[in-house]
Amino acid sequence: MNTSAWLDDIPEGRRIGSYTCGLPGPLILAVGGIHGNEPSGPRAIKAFLDMLHAQCPLMTGTVLGLLGNIKASAMNQRYLDKDLNRCFRSDYIAGADHQLLGAEGPELYEIAGILHRLRDEFEDVCFIDCHTTSAPTMPYLSMNAHPLSIQLAHRFPLNNVIGLQQSIPGCFAEYCNKLDFRGFTFEAGQHVGAAAFNNQMAILWLLLVYSGALHRRDLVNLRHYERMLSLDTPSLRRSFRLLSHYRITEGEDFVMQPGFSNFDYVQHGATLACNRFGEILSPADGYLLMPLYQKKGDDGFFLLEEESSLAPRAAAMA
Ligand SMILES: [Zn+2]
Repeated sequence: MNTSAWLDDIPEGRRIGSYTCGLPGPLILAVGGIHGNEPSGPRAIKAFLDMLHAQCPLMTGTVLGLLGNIKASAMNQRYLDKDLNRCFRSDYIAGADHQLLGAEGPELYEIAGILHRLRDEFEDVCFIDCHTTSAPTMPYLSMNAHPLSIQLAHRFPLNNVIGLQQSIPGCFAEYCNKLDFRGFTFEAGQHVGAAAFNNQMAILWLLLVYSGALHRRDLVNLRHYERMLSLDTPSLRRSFRLLSHYRITEGEDFVMQPGFSNFDYVQHGATLACNRFGEILSPADGYLLMPLYQKKGDDGFFLLEEESSLAPRAAAMA
């Protein structure tokens, strides 16, 4: 059954907004601010919903915008006690130890309650988890090896990274896949860059079309959004898989070498970072992802291998 009346009951502050024409179809769940120092996602979701209400496009299904970590967002902090994007674990959600999660506990339980309600109410939930990065980056999508999510992600003119989330237990997107929602994490650009906001807006509009909620002929700016999204991506969409993951241990004093960007190619043995024991070398030839240039976080960097060069962008969009 597709009903959206209860969406209005989601607490103020959590619910950025919603839009529907009352026609059955997918529930498009747009989440921003799971990390509280990444405001472009929630801002874009709000602006996108404002545009929907101003333009009133005829679409099927429902769009729901949610804010992730409310308390951390208010303080512009990635998190307060525990990274919310590492908390979406079945044992945490079962609530065995409420003290364990600190300030993030109530955030987790409220969001998980909404996700479970969505699963019960909607046959097809299509999610996007909007993020930005500390280092400069071209935008990219990250998803699990979940066939419907990969199929959806391949519609966009962006690089994609498969399997990263399996190395990050408790991330929001992984939990959504467990509930059989289709979707992905979108890294839109650097925290402070204007491009990140524009990319978030573009992907939200395109998601309406690619999810099947809006007919492509009804999105006048479709080509404009596709061009905007692909501005920083080389001419071929590329697909990557996780090769290795450097986890920081407590007290090691990890410092990333300056100057790295996402998808930089590094050779086996290259110096990537250092800690109090010495240099940290690349364990293989590969492509660097998410080099840590902020104080908070346990993921030093990820190393990727290229899976294949996919079809050129024009063919992929046919
Ligand atoms: Zn993030």
